[in-house]
Amino acid sequence: MTATVIDGKQAAADLKESIRQAVAQRKQRGLSVPGLATVLVGSDPASQSYVKAKHNACEELGITSFKIEMPAETTQDVLEAAVSKLANDNSVHGILVQLPLPEGLDEERVLNAIPLSKDVDGFHPINIGRLAQKGREPAFSPCTPSGIIYLLKKTIGSLEGKNAVVIGRSNIVGMPVSLLLLRENATVTICHSRTRDLPSFARSADILVAAIGRAEYVKGDWIKPGAVVIDVGVNRVEDADKKRGYRLVGDVAYEEAIEVASAITPVPGGVGPLTIAMLMQNTLRAAQSQDM
Ligand code: NAP
Repeated sequence: MTATVIDGKQAAADLKESIRQAVAQRKQRGLSVPGLATVLVGSDPASQSYVKAKHNACEELGITSFKIEMPAETTQDVLEAAVSKLANDNSVHGILVQLPLPEGLDEERVLNAIPLSKDVDGFHPINIGRLAQKGREPAFSPCTPSGIIYLLKKTIGSLEGKNAVVIGRSNIVGMPVSLLLLRENATVTICHSRTRDLPSFARSADILVAAIGRAEYVKGDWIKPGAVVIDVGVNRVEDADKKRGYRLVGDVAYEEAIEVASAITPVPGGVGPLTIAMLMQNTLRAAQSQDM
């Protein structure tokens, strides 16, 4: 069997086009233009490039963006005051504080300063709490996990009753994607660094989500024939043939996995592009829900 390659780039492009049209229609109807504010503290190059990509996407889709940049020495009070100012600004529908924050700043307190209705990154403790509770609805769900669910449903339809195994339990990917899979009525197993006999858990999965951060860690013979594999990992491995000296690979040994799985996301071009598309969708929804 050779797996279908799940084209995250195309899925994200289609989703972004529908958002662009919805934003244009809002403008025509005299409704507010969705606005996203990003807050970046410090000068971490990876964070800078993520924030830049978010602003580029806003520009592409007609969403207004506001960029707040603060030095690494910013105090907790000053940072929270900046977030509160955005919270009270009617032209800002969504607020994203780029994580991780520099050492010494309390992430949870800052996230708590974002109103639930503007928490387009979905990391407010109350939104995460609601995600974990039956019968409660978070205002927004985190973007990478939502993108994973979007790709899975597009590929196989209903996730109900599927055995889903998630490797990784981080706040950003593993835990929220596990909660979202549970809400889709999958039967979910969460594995982590202390899991004993990880391959045997992986082999039980109809849906295998790898969010570990270790290059090509999941081998082909860990995958159940016909499983759908979502590779969230983005890892650099040295490659002298590449101009920049490295290439990006996922957490799954891709060449082995495509021989066993029924569908798989590539790295790059799988889950990654969906993250920003989901952020744009959440920002549009925030504006829609704040319409008077
Ligand atoms: P993280 O915070 O470092 O979490 C990694 C998780 O993997 C932890 O739960 C850890 O377990 C588990 N783990 C580590 N080694 C393991 C092992 N040998 N066996 C089983 N589990 C193991 O990373 P993250 O933020 O979730 O990111 C994971 C990967 O996804 C990274 O490559 C990151 O770059 C990528 N990512 C991609 C996107 C995207 O948009 N495509 C977005 C976010 C992240 P413990 O909890 O026991 O330590």
